[in-house]
Amino acid sequence: MEIYNTLSRKKENFPSPDEQKKIRLFVCGPTVYDDAHVGHARTYLFFDFFASYLRSLGYAVNYLQNITDIDDKIIARAAERNMAPADLAQQFLDSYKDDMRALGVDAVTTYAPATDFISQIAAQVERLIDKGFAYKIDGDGWYFDIAKDEDYGKLSGRTAAQAEDGVSRIDDSDAKRNRGDFCLWKFSKPNEPVWQTSLGPGRPGWHIEDTAISEYYFGPQYDVHGGADDLKFPHHEAELAQQESASGLKPFVRWWMHTGFLLVNGKKMAKSAGNFVTIKEFLRTQPPEVLRWIMLAHHYRSPVDFSEALVAQARAALGNLYERFAILSDGGIADDGPDVEVWRDRFHASLGDDLNTPQALAVVFDLLKTEGLSPSGKRRLILEFDAVLKLGIAAHAADMQDIPPEISEKLKRYEQFRIDKQFVQSDALRKEIESLGYEVRDTAEGSRVAKKAL
Ligand code: AMP
Repeated sequence: MEIYNTLSRKKENFPSPDEQKKIRLFVCGPTVYDDAHVGHARTYLFFDFFASYLRSLGYAVNYLQNITDIDDKIIARAAERNMAPADLAQQFLDSYKDDMRALGVDAVTTYAPATDFISQIAAQVERLIDKGFAYKIDGDGWYFDIAKDEDYGKLSGRTAAQAEDGVSRIDDSDAKRNRGDFCLWKFSKPNEPVWQTSLGPGRPGWHIEDTAISEYYFGPQYDVHGGADDLKFPHHEAELAQQESASGLKPFVRWWMHTGFLLVNGKKMAKSAGNFVTIKEFLRTQPPEVLRWIMLAHHYRSPVDFSEALVAQARAALGNLYERFAILSDGGIADDGPDVEVWRDRFHASLGDDLNTPQALAVVFDLLKTEGLSPSGKRRLILEFDAVLKLGIAAHAADMQDIPPEISEKLKRYEQFRIDKQFVQSDALRKEIESLGYEVRDTAEGSRVAKKAL
């Protein structure tokens, strides 16, 4: 398998499970101050897919996600609602976990809220201070001095001087040594949550929570770090600088993976842009598999333009997949042998090429169309592939095959009309069956009926 590494800017060989059984995967979790939107789902569905796929290949994946449960936005939102920041964060952490369950995201091994790791955060900042990478601004906090880190900028391709034109969440302070320096530990203002540590009373900066948490669980070096494109800079650049400076060990992370944005009319879906649809809103009208389909139908590094038309298209394509599967009979002997292996190879070769999921979906549709395998052989392979794709093919198909006796009766009469070449009658009966919410398909093994999928 080859995976694109943001650090080297090229696809690189990913070790097979024989070479490296264990994969430590860290993905940046949400800041829990509001309900998650479908843009978040784009990133989390992809990494859920990635971890599940690796597991299906035989890797033992330890998938860790931090939760930012203290920051400026949480404090501001809690003040607006007259709530304690910790209560607000807990409410939206619960809501996020509910959303992930509803989407079938179940690959995460551990969710780690930042405020459970204050002592590890303080200890890591202490190490940076001892090694001369951090300095204090009185009344403000402890800062990382990017000029002390000679290869700062290697992940995002920015130099320390360019770091000042950061895209998001740059810490502001006129007293910083370099404009791109970022805060490690903020001294709390009045009425803000405060933790008493050796660094002084305060709260963690944004970047340090991830490295303190990942070092606690994985050690100073690990395998894969993921997030969406916006996190490359300054967030991941800062993480890299912190951890390599604190430990002196390189590389901090072997593979950096970044997902493309979910866009609306060309702009990133974001709370601040007001152009979002929450996961809960989406799931009121659509089954979760529609969102999973949208994600899989695009390569993870490509942007996705979210629109009503895209949702309708995804729904139609998914319905088509369910229908085609539902009419495959499951009787008879499923073929095994070289033909099956060829399809398996095609599917895994697609995913092995930097997780090319659109290509893997095309393989599934080609498989449905091929004459080269028996229906039960196709069935078995598609179910095997769906264990990774998680599109709910078997469950939807079973539901579609739950046919009431009066519909089966009509189908029998329909088939008889066709055998008798009474096509006017058979056409009329087909229309009647369809108007009742069922699809009729004429296959080589006779006519089949299935409930309309979506
Ligand atoms: P946040 O809560 O803003 O820290 O975001 C949590 C995760 O979701 C990060 O990996 C973000 O980069 C990702 N994310 C946020 N918005 C989008 C979007 N529109 N498309 C894809 N990923 C996103």
